[in-house]
Amino acid sequence: MEGEHVNHTRDDLTVEEARARILAGLLPLEGEAVDLPGALGRVLAEEIVADGDLPPHANAAMDGYALKAEDTVGATPQRPRRLRVIDESAAGHPASAAVRPGTAIRIMTGAWIPDGADAVLRFEDARLDGDWVDVLAAVPQGKDLRPAGEDVSRSERVLARGNRLRAAEIGMLSALGRETVRVTRRPRVGILATGDELVPAGAALAPGKIRDANGAANAAQVLTAGGEPVRLGIASDRESDITRRLRAGLAEGLDLLLVSGGVSVGDFDRVKEVLAAGGEVAFWRVRMKPGRPMAFGHLAAPTREIGVPVLGMPGNPVSAMVSFVVFAAPAIRALLGAAEVLPPVRRAILLDAVVHKDGRRHFVRVRLEERDGRTVARLTGPQGSGILSSMVAADALAVLPEELESVPAGARVEVIPLR
Ligand code: AMP
Ligand code: MG
Repeated sequence: MEGEHVNHTRDDLTVEEARARILAGLLPLEGEAVDLPGALGRVLAEEIVADGDLPPHANAAMDGYALKAEDTVGATPQRPRRLRVIDESAAGHPASAAVRPGTAIRIMTGAWIPDGADAVLRFEDARLDGDWVDVLAAVPQGKDLRPAGEDVSRSERVLARGNRLRAAEIGMLSALGRETVRVTRRPRVGILATGDELVPAGAALAPGKIRDANGAANAAQVLTAGGEPVRLGIASDRESDITRRLRAGLAEGLDLLLVSGGVSVGDFDRVKEVLAAGGEVAFWRVRMKPGRPMAFGHLAAPTREIGVPVLGMPGNPVSAMVSFVVFAAPAIRALLGAAEVLPPVRRAILLDAVVHKDGRRHFVRVRLEERDGRTVARLTGPQGSGILSSMVAADALAVLPEELESVPAGARVEVIPLR
């Protein structure tokens, strides 16, 4: 039954149209300072400009002798050049003397290059004899020496806003002298599962009941995408219960709300009525499979000028998860201000033929494998939208374009990695 106030948009939307409408109103959240290793996986909310050279001073790339390259010209094992060793430079303990013509300073990897030196002679090309060293090979200027600023020079822009921090970025930030970094606040994402048949994982099954999969799966997906899940439990199909739980969630200060179930055309799909009554919400049919029925809009919330964006996803567990990958994850990345918002795509050869004559874009569960230097994909099993086991077996979704009626075995397709 459809309530009078439900504003159905009957026109089918493409995935891109639906996603563009969702992303249109989403701006990056504010930044917060976070300690470095803890910022792993977070999105930079500031531009990182080096305030000094990296390395800060020229240093040795090898163990050996810091010297003047001109003092080694013509040196061979048969005709060595002899230099006086006047000091030592170890990592963290620079030499106090400077290299003058005819002298050398013993130096270890990472140690500061002393004033006056312009090259390092490796130990294997040197023979120590008391206070003297025999140079057995000629070395050019700059040999085995890492100049100041070789890696990063002062004022260089090193990392951009929107970069996701991995171990490499964390290491770079630390090397640049940062203990904390500004990253966008993690979006608080409310998750509500709906359906009279649902019981929580810990509850006993009664006749007609099934355990909730979506609440947990969507919460895990929120974590993976960089958000903070706020579980709102399971609502029955009664409007009053759905309303109560949504209100409780909205009072928690959510940045995004995900509701699964109750958005198709069944008799008890009451989520639509509740969403329509709570704000501006459109109901779509998206030209995709799984995951056609969808709701998107904004729900009025205390303390917010624009309501909380809400995404209503179909209840079948695989539909809910695929809808998350295609719509909710990009929404979270937009809130994070991430440089890459759309699902990452790669290419693979689909080894199985797939027929689909319904004009929808199919997201099929596949397993990727490297074979003879190519990435190949195989269906993981039955593709029904309630079949969780083929989702568990999958490490990617292959994307079959809506224009095609069938995809022959061996076709090159786009895949969205799930790991
Ligand atoms: P609906 O979108 O509410 O019509 O639900 C479609 C199918 O998904 C039904 O078979 C539901 O029982 C199932 N379903 C809905 N929500 C969940 C959930 N949270 N966990 C597992 N199955 C669900
Ligand atoms: Mg339902």
